[in-house]
Amino acid sequence: MKALLIICDGMGDRLTNGKTPLEAAKKPNFDRIARDGVTGLVHTVAPGVAPGSDTSHLALFGYDPCECYKGRGPLEALGENVKLEKGDVAIRGNFATVEGGVIKDRRAGRDEYGLDELAKSLDGMLIDDVKVIFRKATGHRAIVVFRGKGLSAKVSDTDPEEVGSHIKSSIALDNSQEAKRTAMIVNKFTEKACKILDGHKANKERVKMGQLPANAVLGRSAGISEPVVPFGEKYGIRAAAVAGVTLVKGVCRSVGMDMISVEGANGHRDTNLKGKADAALKALDDHDFVFLHIKGTDEVSHDGDFEGKKRMIERIDKEVLEKILKKADLKNTTIIVTADHSTPIGLKRHSADPVPIAILGDVLTDDVKKFDERSCAKGYLGHIMGRDMMNMILDLTNHSKLFGG
Ligand SMILES: [Zn+2]
Repeated sequence: MKALLIICDGMGDRLTNGKTPLEAAKKPNFDRIARDGVTGLVHTVAPGVAPGSDTSHLALFGYDPCECYKGRGPLEALGENVKLEKGDVAIRGNFATVEGGVIKDRRAGRDEYGLDELAKSLDGMLIDDVKVIFRKATGHRAIVVFRGKGLSAKVSDTDPEEVGSHIKSSIALDNSQEAKRTAMIVNKFTEKACKILDGHKANKERVKMGQLPANAVLGRSAGISEPVVPFGEKYGIRAAAVAGVTLVKGVCRSVGMDMISVEGANGHRDTNLKGKADAALKALDDHDFVFLHIKGTDEVSHDGDFEGKKRMIERIDKEVLEKILKKADLKNTTIIVTADHSTPIGLKRHSADPVPIAILGDVLTDDVKKFDERSCAKGYLGHIMGRDMMNMILDLTNHSKLFGG
C-alpha cells in the first residue's frame, strides 16, 4: 500500500457571512474523499498553537518541532538547494539599496539585473576563520551561510524591516561566547558586503540603466543546521515531495525526501496545479509515500480574499483531486487531504483553529459527507494531533510495526 498526502496550506478558516471558504466552494472531489473515507480535525502542532508552515509540516511528518526546529534560515537554505553541514548558521538575506547609510529600498527595486554576479562577489569570503557561502535566491532574496567552529544562531536580525532606517547591528541573544562571536562575524560580513557591492561594476551598470544599486545585504531569521533522522530511515519507506514554495521544499529536504520539481510550480495562486498532480501520480510509481503541497490557499488567505480562496479550493478540486481520483490506483493507495494550519480570511494570519482531514483508503467510513471544518468535526477520527498522523498513515498502508508482543 502506498500513501499520497495532499496538504493545502492555510486552507482551514472561520465563518465569513455564515460560511467558511471550504463550505462555500463547489468541490465534489474533496467531498467524495470525505464521503467515502474517514474524517476528523487535526491540531497540527498542539491545541492553541498557531504554527508557521515550517513547524506544522515538521509535526505532520512526525518530527517534534519543539525539539528539531532550529530556525527558518537553514530551511530556506535547503529550499534553495544550498547544502548545509552540521553547525552551519544560515540566514535569509535581501539585496537592498542603501544611501548615506540609510535604507532606501529593502529589495533593491526588486530588479534582478546583475544579482548573480554580485552574489558571486560575496561568496567564499573569510571572516576570521569562518567561511561565508552566499547564494542568490528567488528574486531579490539571498541565502547567507556561515561555516566554522563554535557558531550560534542566537543572534538578532540586521534587517530593520523599515525604509529610512540604518542597517541594524546584530547582537547576541544569549550570554554565550558563541552568540557574541557570531553576531560580530555577521556585522563584519554586513560591512564587508557593503564595501564590495558598492564598488562593483554590476552596480555601476544598474545605476547607468536607471536602476537602484543592490549595495547592501539585510539579514534575518538565523538558524543552525542540525540534521535529523531521515524520513526513509525513521519509517522504512521511500518518500518524495512535490512543492513549489521554498520554505516547504526546505522542510522536505531537511527530512530527506526526494524533491520533484515541476515547471511552473511557483508557490502562488497561479501555480501549475495540473503539472503538480501529474508529478505526484508519477512519483507514486517508485515511492511508498508522496507528499503534494499547495500554497495558493494560504496566499489568498493572507490577502483576506474570500472569493479567491473559494476559487483556489475549486481549482484544487478540479485540477488536482479529480485527476488523482481518476488516475491513481485507489485499491493500493491511501489518499489523505488536509491543511498545515488555518489562515482565517478575517485575520489574514495563521490561527490555531484545527484543520479538517479526510482519509480515503481501507478505513472505517463515517457519516460525514462533506469536506469542511464543521462537517469533519463530526468525523470518526475526532481531534487528532499532527504528530500522530504519520503513525496513522503507516498503519493504514501496512507499514507499521506492532508495539508490544
Ligand atoms: Zn501563511
